[in-house]
Amino acid sequence: MTHIITSLCLRDGGCVDVCPVECIVPGMPQDKWPWYYIDPVTCIDCGACIPECPFEAIFTEDETPEAYETKEGQMQAMPVGTAGFDQHYDGSNHHGHAVSMDGIKVLHAGETLNLRTDIPPNYDYFKTGPGYWEGWQQHAK
Ligand code: SF4
Repeated sequence: MTHIITSLCLRDGGCVDVCPVECIVPGMPQDKWPWYYIDPVTCIDCGACIPECPFEAIFTEDETPEAYETKEGQMQAMPVGTAGFDQHYDGSNHHGHAVSMDGIKVLHAGETLNLRTDIPPNYDYFKTGPGYWEGWQQHAK
């Protein structure tokens, strides 16, 4: 099992600071990989990242919900160009740095999302995607 970052991620990054095995990385390039991603091979399922996420975007793989009930004003992020995800988000991350994202959909209360479809990208990022972005590795040292 691993932990999964879902499409509710708005790149806060607080999870990165608490992960004891440094297995969470920001998706790069951001327009194709908008969330942060957990390397499923390295994750030790300690659970430290879950309470750090202000967007409640992280779940254990087993508990990633198939029928997640949205709250009013919550946002979901997808790769830029995804149909229906044409809004923009400006905010700030855990360190107070600006976050700017396209590919956003603003959600309304009472919608139901299958967040289990967000599980494969967490694996794909490391298996077939860019994985540990070299620049991020250097930055993290
Ligand atoms: Fe890192 Fe623990 Fe979260 Fe896994 S569960 S990503 S090891 S903080």
